[in-house]
Amino acid sequence: MSVVELLGVSRRFGRTAAVDDVSLTVGEGEMVALVGPSGCGKSTLLMLLAGLLEPDAGTISVGGRVVAGPRTWVPPEQRHVGVVFQDAALFPHLRVADNVAFGLPRGENRARRLAELLELVELPGLGARFPHELSGGQQQRVALARALAPRPQVVLFDEAFGNLDSTLRASVREATLRALHGTGAAGVFVTHDQAEALAVGDRVAVMREGRFDHVAEPAEAFHAPATRFSATLLGDADFLPGRQDGALVDTEVGRLAATPSAAGEVDVMLRPHEVGFAVSATGTSRVLGREFRGAHYVYSLQLPSGAVLRSFQPHTVDVAVGSSVALAVDAGHPVRTFPRRQT
Ligand code: ADP
Repeated sequence: MSVVELLGVSRRFGRTAAVDDVSLTVGEGEMVALVGPSGCGKSTLLMLLAGLLEPDAGTISVGGRVVAGPRTWVPPEQRHVGVVFQDAALFPHLRVADNVAFGLPRGENRARRLAELLELVELPGLGARFPHELSGGQQQRVALARALAPRPQVVLFDEAFGNLDSTLRASVREATLRALHGTGAAGVFVTHDQAEALAVGDRVAVMREGRFDHVAEPAEAFHAPATRFSATLLGDADFLPGRQDGALVDTEVGRLAATPSAAGEVDVMLRPHEVGFAVSATGTSRVLGREFRGAHYVYSLQLPSGAVLRSFQPHTVDVAVGSSVALAVDAGHPVRTFPRRQT
């Protein structure tokens, strides 16, 4: 059953179609990561779901009940929707327990439920602390506990970990997903960080100018993106000319299995982890440059035609700029092709 359903939802600001005829369902316990560049409409979509903005058109349902639509409006506090913002926005003068209790409905056994919520977000025993006595990651988990207190059917995350440094972010993210799965609530997670979207989402929705470019499971969105826009948004991608015949494509680096089936001139998407090389005196490609990224190098390799492909290599692969190399592509799956772009 779908917990969230958006049908043909639009919202304009003056001339800007911030959200433009968007439809999406989110299933029970499912997390959908919304990813896209700044200004593509992610926050607007979240605010429409939360009830902080009204749609101009379309219908929004939560738990099978229409909460926004023609002649229907359910206010935020009655929607069973929790929100976690980038800034934890805790009440600074209230202890953790009171911050979390703020979200508790009346009639609950407060002490027991509080302990349960702090356990859920992996902060047992910290109820007596004040927000300033917690780390940024702990504050975000208190904000999550507060959002979960009224037992929402869906939790919205608006760049929720954007203020945390990258090492902390991964552990807080994991704790958050564990907590959310523990409740069975659905989630919609807004981020501009493609790696985070791929890590967090059961499905990823790539947004562009108010619309969805591609909604798919992370592996499909990454390996077989719907458009070039999604291809480059979700990771490093290079494009190599090819001539396709059905499920095979001939390129300068050899014949490759290709998807979707097509005929004629195409551009083949290759990601740097799919491109390998070996130093070879008879190799026809050349190392144009390399960038050190800590755990790995990104090599730029120039093919005889002049095309450049990038290649991720472990930091132990130390090849000088200018070396002759032989390229080998191994994607492990059919490579995504796009109709040749007119230039
Ligand atoms: P994102 O969250 O992806 O960065 P937003 O949803 O904030 O994008 O914005 C989508 C578009 O709508 C942008 O062009 C933005 O300038 C515009 N917009 C958002 N909120 C308002 C507002 N309150 N008034 C006018 N324009 C807005």
